[in-house]
Amino acid sequence: MDINKIREDYPILQRQIEGRPLIYLDNAATSQTPRPVVEAIEQMYYRYKANVHRGVHTLSQEATDMVELTREKVRAFINAGSIQEVIFTRGTTEGINLVASSFGQMLESGDEIIVSVMEHHSNIVPWQLIGQRKRVTLRVVPINERGEVDMQSYEDLFSDNTRFVAVAHVSNVLGSINPVKRMIEIAHSHGVPALVDGAQAAPHVQVDVQQLDCDFYAFSSHKMYGPAGVGILYGKRYWLEQMPPYQGGGEMIGQVSFERTTFAELPFKFEAGTPDFVDIAAFGAAIDYIQSLGIDNIAAHERELLNAAVDGLMSIEGMRLFGTSLNKSGVVSFLVNDISSYDMGLLLDKLGIAVRTGHHCAQPLMARYGVTGMVRASFAVYNTLDEVAAFVAATRRVADMLR
Ligand SMILES: *Cc1c(COP(=O)(O)O)cnc(C)c1O
Repeated sequence: MDINKIREDYPILQRQIEGRPLIYLDNAATSQTPRPVVEAIEQMYYRYKANVHRGVHTLSQEATDMVELTREKVRAFINAGSIQEVIFTRGTTEGINLVASSFGQMLESGDEIIVSVMEHHSNIVPWQLIGQRKRVTLRVVPINERGEVDMQSYEDLFSDNTRFVAVAHVSNVLGSINPVKRMIEIAHSHGVPALVDGAQAAPHVQVDVQQLDCDFYAFSSHKMYGPAGVGILYGKRYWLEQMPPYQGGGEMIGQVSFERTTFAELPFKFEAGTPDFVDIAAFGAAIDYIQSLGIDNIAAHERELLNAAVDGLMSIEGMRLFGTSLNKSGVVSFLVNDISSYDMGLLLDKLGIAVRTGHHCAQPLMARYGVTGMVRASFAVYNTLDEVAAFVAATRRVADMLR
């Protein structure tokens, strides 16, 4: 891959911050968007804008075709068995809320749900909300010092009351790539279905939902070079057919009368209201973009950046890295001495470097490490080794300044 050529597709990377070239290392929060995706959005507004799945007129049919084409691209991208198992949402958060809310209606008092201590708040709070209504308790899988799931404890958490497992494929803080295939296998051996939060995996690892055998898989377009406001929930047809609808409205119905309403076939049963058809269509361009580069090539490049960052950061006195799993994606979280993550982040910004600071929507994980925040750098395909070197040098400079 020619990274300099790739960078030309991202005008934002030409920006200067505080008179210095922007070095964007907050990709785990959202990635930047290349021209083909932005152009797809423009095309939708300039040529194809019409409401979908409704009109007989040409524009409506064309817009519908674009949305359904993306659905097929997503199906192929994650190797789902059928487009009926691919539901458009607003993002990972909505996908998990959908499952917690709908599957949750089938739960009963005393049931238990297993999550891990490294979950993002969006894979904790929806379960707590349904848990409070249904008197369902959360059981939490611990991790070891390297930031890996403790598999023995995981197995031990299963009881006769376990009804659901919800775990991240890749941690947004530690970068750990969790052994989700094995975790799902164990859940299934107890007759328990499993949801995988794939927000940090879909942009970086090959995802095959049939090979994983997961029951649900949620991810977001905006973290994978696509537009914001679109997410995907994959669900096995077996479950989706049994689950009640999430929201009611247009699009998700069969027949409506005041006496009785029937619901649409999958996947539309779970897609109430007008979807974000503009961004869904453009998300198709983002998938094409990833496929054209090759997800394995992207992962290999990010791996190189990660290794350089870890090597560089480790040579800084007082450096503490969080998440040292061997099986790790391009995310590095750290603290230097007792410098607060905010101070570090603010000063790095003065040097043109965008990193994330604070709790990363994972307060239980911060508590696990006994800190209130961390600095996080996360990589995407357009980052370079020069940028990593500049980031390490800047971190060293700030550390020396605040020592
Ligand atoms: C970003 C993220 C989410 C939430 O995604 P949204 O796009 O904000 O809905 C959930 N889980 C993980 C691991 C994430 O990184």
